[in-house]
Amino acid sequence: MADTSEKPPRHILSLSGGKDSAALAVYMRDRVSNMEYIFHDTAKELPDTYEYLEKLEAYLGQKIVRTTFGTTFDHLLRVKGGMLPSNHRRWCTEYMKLKPFEAYIGEAPCINYVGIRADEKRVGYISHKPNIKAVFPFIDDGIDYAGVLNILQGSGLGLPPFMAWGRSRSGCYFCFYQQKIEWVRMRRRYPHLYEEAKAYEKPNRTNGNTFYWCQDEPLVELEKPERMAEIERNWEKKQESLRSRPKNVPLISSLGGRPHEATEERACLICQL
Ligand code: SF4
Repeated sequence: MADTSEKPPRHILSLSGGKDSAALAVYMRDRVSNMEYIFHDTAKELPDTYEYLEKLEAYLGQKIVRTTFGTTFDHLLRVKGGMLPSNHRRWCTEYMKLKPFEAYIGEAPCINYVGIRADEKRVGYISHKPNIKAVFPFIDDGIDYAGVLNILQGSGLGLPPFMAWGRSRSGCYFCFYQQKIEWVRMRRRYPHLYEEAKAYEKPNRTNGNTFYWCQDEPLVELEKPERMAEIERNWEKKQESLRSRPKNVPLISSLGGRPHEATEERACLICQL
């Protein structure tokens, strides 16, 4: 006999503040009535992200639950001896995004809606907890980049505001995945956040080495006017070469200055989808 005490699954859609997960929330709003929308807040997000999430809440008519893991980036950094995260040491994702996600879900059966598009090849974090089942509505329904844009335009939500000034992804303002052109743009747009990111680049307590967000270049060097101008010139040249590519290279490529797929595959899925 079937176990009638088994609870129906929760439906959970985690938002990154980026366009794909926002479009998925719009897409699912009238399809799943009891959806829970969550956002793993590192408290180091761009102001644009918080603004966009507020707009999305108004559209959904529902609160987006902010999850945190009861700690802060600065505390974790101290625990790590001052070792900044990087793509080889991505402790920030684990502690500030993945653990809050699993803690929020707990042990109850859950369907997790993931916004990977039909035109993407990327793979990302999918929880291996047996109670979590990931589903991919955009892949199932053939919704690609253009489809996501249509959904966002149709809803009146539009793209996340950071895309208007040339940042290609959501996530922490200091995210090490951003390209140098994006650092330059952030330096111009939010100089105080650039200053805060720069302040993290100091010798760590463990061995006295200094870690840099960009690995090979301190932010104090990158912000020199001649260096910023050089990065911008290089980016322009890259655009020239992109313009000679096939016409179906999506807009996001020109925002970050890198081929679309290469950029997206490097990215942190749970932070930036
Ligand atoms: S957005 Fe970047 S810095 Fe922030 S948690 Fe994700 S990978 Fe780490």
